[in-house]
Amino acid sequence: MTHAPAALKTIDVAALAERIRSGERAALARAITFAESRRADHRATARALVQELLELTGKAIRVGVTGVPGVGKSTTIDALGSRLTAEGRKVAVLAVDPSSKRTGGSILGDKTRMARLAHDRNAYIRPSPSAGTLGGVAAKTRETMLLVEAAGFDVILVETVGIGQSEITVADMTDVFLVLMLPGAGDELQGIKKGVLEIADIIAVNKADGDGARRANDAAADYKAALRILNADSGAWTPEVLTISGRADLRLDTLWSRVEACRAARERSGEFSARRAKQQVRWMWDMVEARFRERLSEDPKLAERLPALEADVAKGDLAPTVAADEIAKVLGF
Ligand code: GDP
Repeated sequence: MTHAPAALKTIDVAALAERIRSGERAALARAITFAESRRADHRATARALVQELLELTGKAIRVGVTGVPGVGKSTTIDALGSRLTAEGRKVAVLAVDPSSKRTGGSILGDKTRMARLAHDRNAYIRPSPSAGTLGGVAAKTRETMLLVEAAGFDVILVETVGIGQSEITVADMTDVFLVLMLPGAGDELQGIKKGVLEIADIIAVNKADGDGARRANDAAADYKAALRILNADSGAWTPEVLTISGRADLRLDTLWSRVEACRAARERSGEFSARRAKQQVRWMWDMVEARFRERLSEDPKLAERLPALEADVAKGDLAPTVAADEIAKVLGF
């Protein structure tokens, strides 16, 4: 048994949970720091907190927001979020950006990009956790999502970049998936990843203001046509396309009412709870896999054997299947 150094205070999970419940921002920030930490004891504290707060979680509407850099995600989230807080809602903006590890800081969820929300007492902005794989970043954001829900936030916007696998990951942890598009991009539909259109519940062509309005309408017509082909059978909700302006605050009220309509349609059909349940179970398995991977990377016996095994496999002297077998044996599986 190892003992924690005396300098480390034991954390009173029940007390911290109570402070989160009562909406204390400092307590929430502390809990999120635990969830994002690399330290095993911090992560265990975060897990205990989430368990303690579990019955308060799950009540928010969780919305994924994606789009290429420059499409207007932060401008739109700032305007939409401010509208929602003005109506009395509490809005949390989280981000999933696995590329942020390269720069050591994420652009997504950056408070300077959301000037109004950053100073709004009913909003909470948290940038992407910056360390690790997409799976690792997503796991931390999922935990953060539950913590902000327990703190009383009833709208969670999860921002991600319009490139790669992160969109699917975010769609998989939210109830409604919103894709922002640029006007004019409709001309280059072929260049847009089909995958994004397949998971979009709502496509909002942004910058539909001034000279952009016509081009945005053209793009919207193209996306509508593309969606008709892609989503012959999309369940309770048929994906929709609209034009908005985040900067001029055009049709953001309609956008939000469509987000709520999507959720309501899925609630009526039973898809909503089925989707949430599936997400929970998938999260569990993601965590199991992460644990196994951690064990793999931390096992001293394996660390000793691994360089030789890898070299033999690389040279072609050892079949990868046999090497995998040996690794499993070293780990006692
Ligand atoms: P993000 O990278 O997706 O977060 O995009 P930003 O919100 O930072 O916006 C990128 C640029 O587009 C900025 O210069 C914004 O002012 C501009 N922009 C954002 N939304 C709109 C809009 O609705 N209309 C117009 N005309 N410009 C916009």
